[in-house]
Amino acid sequence: MDAKSYHMTPDEFRRWGYALVDWIAGYQERIESFPVLSQAAPGEMYGALPASPPAQGEPFDAILADVERIILPGITHWQSPNFFAFFPANASGPAILGDLLSSGLGVQGMLWATSPACTELETLMLDWLVEMLDLPGAFHSSSAGGGVIQDSASSAALCALLAARERATNLASNRQGCDGKLLAYTSSQAHSSIEKAVKIAGLGSANLRLIEVDETFAMRPDRLAAAIDQDRQAGLTPCFVSATVGTTSSSALDPLSEIGQVCRDRGVWLHVDAAMAGTAALCPEFRYIHHGLGFANSYCFNPHKWMFTNFDCDAFYVADRTALVNALSILPEYLRNQATQSGQVIDYRDWQISLGRRFRALKLWFVIRHYGVEGLRYHIRRHVELAQQFASWVEADGRFELVAPAPLNLVCFRHRGGDEINQRLLDVLNRSGALYLTHTRLADQFTLRMSIAQTHTELRHIEAAWAQIRTAAATLEH
Ligand code: PLP
Repeated sequence: MDAKSYHMTPDEFRRWGYALVDWIAGYQERIESFPVLSQAAPGEMYGALPASPPAQGEPFDAILADVERIILPGITHWQSPNFFAFFPANASGPAILGDLLSSGLGVQGMLWATSPACTELETLMLDWLVEMLDLPGAFHSSSAGGGVIQDSASSAALCALLAARERATNLASNRQGCDGKLLAYTSSQAHSSIEKAVKIAGLGSANLRLIEVDETFAMRPDRLAAAIDQDRQAGLTPCFVSATVGTTSSSALDPLSEIGQVCRDRGVWLHVDAAMAGTAALCPEFRYIHHGLGFANSYCFNPHKWMFTNFDCDAFYVADRTALVNALSILPEYLRNQATQSGQVIDYRDWQISLGRRFRALKLWFVIRHYGVEGLRYHIRRHVELAQQFASWVEADGRFELVAPAPLNLVCFRHRGGDEINQRLLDVLNRSGALYLTHTRLADQFTLRMSIAQTHTELRHIEAAWAQIRTAAATLEH
């Protein structure tokens, strides 16, 4: 007699799998009917669910009913075409299915040997992206460098910093810890993940120099050079510079050629963070953003932001894999295997923080095959066009002003009436549920950010958003 089992049978899985896919497709169809920013109160979902877990298993339809009743009201709809906040995490049908397949296969790809396809498809996808974005040949797996999928740009920056740290200290930091003399540099506009990486890597946030920016909010290479030289003269060890292509606040583009030259002349590792904007390089006319990338020791961009690939998926590259692998490789006895020993395979566990890793390349593969390069380019161009359209409306309205250049798909703008009215405008708009915007501070002014990159955003959504903004502003002016 078979042992008793509580597991879902393949037939049950099929039935509820179809039901869940139906639910997701229905959600996509009705997504515009929900307030974009969740209107839930703190504790609402926690309080609506039982305080203790069920002793006996429950029917799947009861679980789905609670998703609809309790979870959905607590969702901020990132996939809404009216989501203009932060940077997007845009998704698509093929990416969702790729993630489902990844879960279905349940592969843990820490070593080549633990699922050769997981590693090799990932290597190929990262090579495809080198070609698709016209990245430097040094990032291709056929060279000394190569790419790997990280969970996030934050992890990519941390890995880059660890590699730079070990390169600068000849692996001494790994053995003995940091000596307090290692320094990192980034602009005052860089993403907070750089400061976090500096803290985690043991350099200490006091050893991160925030370099001044110019009037376009881009890093000043002359100030970078001066800071590095001064620190070196003081007996310190500059080891890492992070430049940004498309800053979070305003999409500013740090000048990579000049920064790269400064780094190369001084033997300092250059990491380039193009988390959001990198995807634009799919289109030849936007590839100028990467001009000078050949100087970079490492680079990353997030297909999970703008390339229709569900979170999480960051493409991280190094121009020479040695420093990265030396910094992160540890080989305990239980992971030894013939393939690793042969030196013929990549073990991606040596390219990241954690040991375990999901089969993320599947969703990238599905996305790239579904859209094709031309399909992806079409949608990226469309987003940029919509942003430029929006920027032109702002410029033409005397009550508003642009606060920063808008080279791609992010428009930073404000009402001319001062910080308070802009803050109130933001609150009114987000409370309305019709759209979701976020803010930043630029040149010490409260600034609204309109980030246009949702999968299904069309002209009508931008028109409606602009109408809402103008109407709300008119009400607040009185
Ligand atoms: N770098 C930049 C320029 C970003 O805009 C962001 C997030 O918006 C990040 C890094 C962090 O991204 P992640 O969530 O992948 O760590």
